[in-house]
Amino acid sequence: MKSIAVFCGSSFGTEPIFRETAYNLGALLSQKGFSLVYGGSATGLMGVLADGVLENQGEVIGVLPRFLQKKEVAHTRLTQLILVDDMHQRKAKMNELADGFIVLPGGLGTFEELFEMLTWSQLGLHQKQIVLLNIGGYYDPLLSLLQNLEHFGFLKSGNQSAFLVCDSVLACLNVFEK
Ligand code: AMP
Repeated sequence: MKSIAVFCGSSFGTEPIFRETAYNLGALLSQKGFSLVYGGSATGLMGVLADGVLENQGEVIGVLPRFLQKKEVAHTRLTQLILVDDMHQRKAKMNELADGFIVLPGGLGTFEELFEMLTWSQLGLHQKQIVLLNIGGYYDPLLSLLQNLEHFGFLKSGNQSAFLVCDSVLACLNVFEK
């Protein structure tokens, strides 16, 4: 079974489409036979995403640092909850377990996780696909910023081949079915 790691907000965000998409992504991951690896929290989009998988009889592995166990409220119905010592171990574990990455709307934590995986890809530390699910144009300013990096010579366009942008859950999962 292929595992996909998803990074997303521990909040819901302002737009109902964010939580609808998180749930639909979870449901479709399960229906298409992927297991989910994520941060293990029950809050915000993270919780809804896990619910989408679990309510469609899918498998979810949560990876949560011990110090966040209370703060983020660990999801209680996961197939497996892996507790790690810190944030670095969490990302390393998620990378170890995942065959690819999907990024939904989120805050600073989601950005940090996205950029760490992009950086590791750029350094050749993994060769996995990273798909940004750009719902409601949430990531448009980030995509402009990345173009700016390229324009000013701080980002080589070839380095971004592992990075794709999709605007629907279906398109996003098609990437991993090939
Ligand atoms: P956020 O996108 O900020 O709601 O956070 C989403 C996920 O990223 C959660 O699992 C957080 O634990 C994690 N996270 C939050 N802050 C940070 C941070 N400073 N560095 C790395 N991960 C974080």
